[in-house]
Amino acid sequence: MGDFSVKCPLCGNGDTGVVDSRLTGDSVWRRRECPKCSRRFTTYERAELEIFVVKKDGRREPYKKEKLLSGILKATEKRPIALEQINKLVESVEQQIRGRGKLEVPSTYIGDIVMRKLKRLDEVAYIRFASVYRQFKDVASFQTELKRLKQG
Ligand SMILES: [Zn+2]
Repeated sequence: MGDFSVKCPLCGNGDTGVVDSRLTGDSVWRRRECPKCSRRFTTYERAELEIFVVKKDGRREPYKKEKLLSGILKATEKRPIALEQINKLVESVEQQIRGRGKLEVPSTYIGDIVMRKLKRLDEVAYIRFASVYRQFKDVASFQTELKRLKQG
């Protein structure tokens, strides 16, 4: 959480100074001033640990919210689901991941949370996500999943 250079949102100047900062819990508010247009703005930074996703074959890769989001967007394509709902879903999945307080999270853990949440949101999106995630090899395993869904 360093004092990286922040662009002025008001005039686009790339170099702004910090005039005040305040630490609250795990986040920092910084009051910044732009030397070019001399206007002030506030930034909010949250300390976030880098989390690694452990895949089924044991490989690790840094957790990326964008990747989670794109998987969910694919599953919900052309479904009557607002982007806001999708964002909320992603946020709540991320909260759960971070809430574990562990630096490594199995990909299966993330997949299961997403499936559970999608199931409540939209059945078609859920089945789409599940079919990619579970990689159904045949009709039988797909039907097993459908049965699981109905028992929910
Ligand atoms: Zn400026």
